[in-house]
Amino acid sequence: MADHYEVLGVSRDASQDEIKKAYRRLARELHPDVNPGTDASERFKEVTHAYDVLSDPRQREQYDHGGGQGAFGGQGFGGFGDIFETFFGAGQQTRGPKSRRERGQDALIRVEVGLDEVIFGTHRDLELDTAVLCETCNGSCCQPGTAPVTCDICHGTGSIQRTVRSLLGNVMTSSPCGTCRGYGTVITTPCVTCQGQGRVRARRTVPVDIPAGVDTGLRLQMPGSGEAGPAGGPNGDLYLEIKVKTHDVFSRNGDDLLCTLEVAMTDAILGTTANLPGLDGDVALEIKPGTQSGEVLTVKDRGVTRLRGGGRGDLRVGVQVLTPTKLSGKERKLVEELAAMHKTKAPELSHFQQGLFARLRDRFLS
Ligand code: ZN
Repeated sequence: MADHYEVLGVSRDASQDEIKKAYRRLARELHPDVNPGTDASERFKEVTHAYDVLSDPRQREQYDHGGGQGAFGGQGFGGFGDIFETFFGAGQQTRGPKSRRERGQDALIRVEVGLDEVIFGTHRDLELDTAVLCETCNGSCCQPGTAPVTCDICHGTGSIQRTVRSLLGNVMTSSPCGTCRGYGTVITTPCVTCQGQGRVRARRTVPVDIPAGVDTGLRLQMPGSGEAGPAGGPNGDLYLEIKVKTHDVFSRNGDDLLCTLEVAMTDAILGTTANLPGLDGDVALEIKPGTQSGEVLTVKDRGVTRLRGGGRGDLRVGVQVLTPTKLSGKERKLVEELAAMHKTKAPELSHFQQGLFARLRDRFLS
């Protein structure tokens, strides 16, 4: 029996990494799928066995000291399948034929909603171009009244077994049956509606309730509303990606709605009640006498409904006091009288601010 180190072409003090690399290289070269010759197959088993022993530190030590009697023990052999699957895992289905039924793919669609719809949530009937169950064959893939027949070549197992003689004794290898492609059955009379797929493309209307409080970028998952799977397989999921349209007046900070209200100078001095057309009905907002430009007034519970419950955010209104620019002679006279009567403060320096808008924003976000 060949020395395990020689088989892998590594030195006796090779690291685990070197052993692994050597094995991978040889396995790719010798694997029966790539290299169908009997010699290659024999060598493949030999290489795999050598790797099996040397990659396990305990077995390697035993081998180094005792000449490998542990090599054919249960442990060494038990690892074989694992290694085989680790490197060639995909498609190595050995137990029974595979099913035509598969889960359908997930679908993603983007949905644009208005800010007003976000406040209380909304409903959409979405048109979806997707795969649906074939109603002619009901997912069986066969013409009605017919059924798949057992594959003659693999006798329904879906795989072809081959026995390979090796150092380990006779080893069974299996590969998917080429005739039935591993399904174990053959559809001799495919459904003409779906060409034997069990599903067809169709336009479908999906009613969707979009909850209140959603924001741009949020993805809503609708389990089972995606594509139908092949051969009557279950549907995938549908994901809705939300985009909230920008609004002319209102913007959003979390669950709060923000806007700016222009107030005449005289109203700011004397006070008034402003009727704001809110996104969900009018809001009566009291402007107190002496309101300053840049003040932020809060209307409780008139913002966006919180997505995870807990009521609504607030409506925050930034006040911008408008200074009159055109005065009639009489108005000017009145203001001059007011100025003379009222001891106004002389202009006074303070820290520079990037305009009212920036000040408003700072206060909104504080
Ligand atoms: Zn069909």
